[in-house]
Amino acid sequence: MLFGPPGAGKGTQSEVLLQRYGLVHLSTGDIFRYNIKNATELGLQAKAFMDKGELVPDSLTISMLESEVVKHQEPKGFIFDGFPRTSAQAEALDRFLNSRGTTITCMLALEVDEEELIKRLLNRASTSGRADDADESIVRNRIAVYNRETAPVAGYYQACGKYRGVQGVGTVNEITTRLCAELDAFVQ
Ligand code: AMP
Repeated sequence: MLFGPPGAGKGTQSEVLLQRYGLVHLSTGDIFRYNIKNATELGLQAKAFMDKGELVPDSLTISMLESEVVKHQEPKGFIFDGFPRTSAQAEALDRFLNSRGTTITCMLALEVDEEELIKRLLNRASTSGRADDADESIVRNRIAVYNRETAPVAGYYQACGKYRGVQGVGTVNEITTRLCAELDAFVQ
C-alpha cells in the first residue's frame, strides 16, 4: 500500500515498484478517471465528487476496488495507490483480503510538507490535464480532506506494526531506494 497526500509521488513511485517487484498497480484515482473518460455510470457518479476535491463515497469506492482485485488471477501482489483513504475503506479491505486468505504486507507512507505538495500539484496540472490539479482552492481542499479523513488511516496500520514513513522529497531514484529498503524488510 502506497500512502500519502495528493502530490506525494504515489503514482510515480508505483510505476517503478510494480516493475521491480512484479506487482499489479491499482490506483483508485486512475480507475475513476478511466470511468469518467468512458462515461460509465460509475464515472458519472465519481466525477461530481472529484471535481470538488471531495472523496467518492466509500460504498462506490470499495465495491469498485474489490471488483478490480478479483479480475487478476493469482497475482504476485498488488500496489494499492490512493486506497484506502478512510477508516471504513481500511476495515473493508481487511475483511475482503481475509476472506481471500491474504492480508496487507505493509503501508509505505510518503511524507512531503504541504507547501511543497501544492507547488507540485499546480505544476503537474500543465501535464496531467487534471482539473483538480489546476485550481488552487480544489488542491487545498484535497489536502484538507486528506488531513481530516485519510491521515488517521495510518494509525490503523501503525497499531499492527505495518506502517513505515518515508521521506518523499529528493530525486525519484533516492525516494525509490528508501521505499525499496523498507519494502524488502517486509517481503524477505
Ligand atoms: P488521486 O488520483 O489518488 O489523486 O485521486 C483523485 C480523486 O479521486 C480524489 O480526490 C477523490 O475524489 C477520488 N478518489 C481516489 N481514490 C479514492 C478513494 N480511495 N476514496 C474516495 N475517493 C477517491
